[in-house]
Amino acid sequence: MLKYCPTCNRSSDDVHFIGEFCEICIKEKLAKGLPSNVTLEVCKSCGRIRTRDGYASPNKESIADAISAGVGGKWKISIKEFDWKRADVVFKQEYGDERVKMEKEIEVKVKKPMCIDCYRQTSGYYEAIFQIRGPESKVENIMAKLMKFISTRNTFTSRVDELENGYDIYLSDKKVANAFVEYYELKPGRSYSLYGVKNGKELYRNIYILRLE
Ligand SMILES: [Zn+2]
Ligand SMILES: [Zn+2]
Repeated sequence: MLKYCPTCNRSSDDVHFIGEFCEICIKEKLAKGLPSNVTLEVCKSCGRIRTRDGYASPNKESIADAISAGVGGKWKISIKEFDWKRADVVFKQEYGDERVKMEKEIEVKVKKPMCIDCYRQTSGYYEAIFQIRGPESKVENIMAKLMKFISTRNTFTSRVDELENGYDIYLSDKKVANAFVEYYELKPGRSYSLYGVKNGKELYRNIYILRLE
C-alpha cells in the first residue's frame, strides 16, 4: 500500500519508510538529538581515558565507549576518524524494527583530571607491605617475580625500601598482594594494621613477612 509521509509528503514509492514516516524525516528527527561536541576526560599523568569501566588506554574501542558515556541515549557508537579535536562518529540505533545508521563529525573537548590510580601513586597510597627477608639470591628472585606480577596488573609500588637482608615493598592493592601469595603458593606470616575508617568500616593494611631460607 502506498504511504505518504505526514511530515514531508514524500511517497513510499520514492523513499524507504520506517513505520508511518519516511526514512529521511526519521533521520532528521533523530539527528536533532545528536551532540555537536563531547568532552572526554584524559588523565594528565598517565594519558588514559575515562570510560564507563574506569580508565583505559586510548584506542578506538575505549574512545567510542567514552563518547557513548557522554552522548547517552540509545545510540551505539563507533569511531571512523579521531584526532582529539574532532571525531567522525557512526551512530546506530534500533528504531521500530529497523536499524538507523548516521554519521556525524563532532567536536572533541578534552578535560585533564588525574585518575584515581595516579592520584594514589603521587600521594604515596598503599594497602599492603610485602617484607622479604633471606639470602640475597632468593630475595632477588622473589623480588623479580613480584615486580613482574604487579606490572601486568593495575597496581603499583608506592615505595621500596632496600634493607640489609631484604626489601620492604609498599603495594597499592592488597588484592594483588594476596593473588601473588596464592599464585606462587607462598606462606608468609601475616599481620594487619588499622589505618582508617570509611563509611563506618575499618580499613586495614595487610603486612606480609616472607622469610626465605
Ligand atoms: Zn518525510
Ligand atoms: Zn592516570
